[in-house]
Amino acid sequence: MNILAIGAHPDDIEMQCAGTLALYARMGHKVFMGIATNGNVGSPDLSRDQIAAVRLKEAEAACDVIGAELIWMDFDDEWLFNNRPTRSRFIDAIRQAKPDVMFIHGPTDYHPDHRIAGQICEDARIPSSVRLVETTLPHVEQIPHLFYMDNPAGIDFQPEAYVDISAVIDIKREMLLKHASQDAWLRAIYDDASITDLMETNAAARGAAISVAYAEGFREVKTFPRTGSFSLLPGFGI
Ligand SMILES: [Zn+2]
Repeated sequence: MNILAIGAHPDDIEMQCAGTLALYARMGHKVFMGIATNGNVGSPDLSRDQIAAVRLKEAEAACDVIGAELIWMDFDDEWLFNNRPTRSRFIDAIRQAKPDVMFIHGPTDYHPDHRIAGQICEDARIPSSVRLVETTLPHVEQIPHLFYMDNPAGIDFQPEAYVDISAVIDIKREMLLKHASQDAWLRAIYDDASITDLMETNAAARGAAISVAYAEGFREVKTFPRTGSFSLLPGFGI
């Protein structure tokens, strides 16, 4: 299978579903990580161009940990809108990855870039398969299944499927730590909580729900068309 996760910012995918992606990669599936914005406001001292360059390097390093292919969309951080340029770019991301399964932000997430990125994914899903919706890449044959990944700190998100990531928590931590600039940034704006503390607290809480050390939670996007035999989180027996 091909797996595509799309996050609004560099580090969102690592925070919410990198364990599941690591497991998919370990099973031999092809993983793509699409990032909508370049993170160019996430610094207390660098310029926008400088921090964007740093964050691209960090994202590349995180992808390398699991052999994922990075799709860098390069929109401005905090200014993501659901319009023709962004939707065309997301359609191209889907056409590049040809995913069976996608992981996206959900509608109850706290951050506007997250909510809008998730909405664009939902809105790009079917047009990516339409020949006369012309972008830079040809249409895909298969409309992917979508899953919402967890919200930061799990707030306002009730999972309906869990993936036990206890065996790959070190990989998830390693991927997150590639975003060194954001560890410093989060400590500055969120009361000194480290980037890994935030992740591990939520992963442990989701794990407690299914009696394992660490888990990630998901919800299926139940939207038309839902074709073929279907399981929540294909490949995990769920
Ligand atoms: Zn984010």
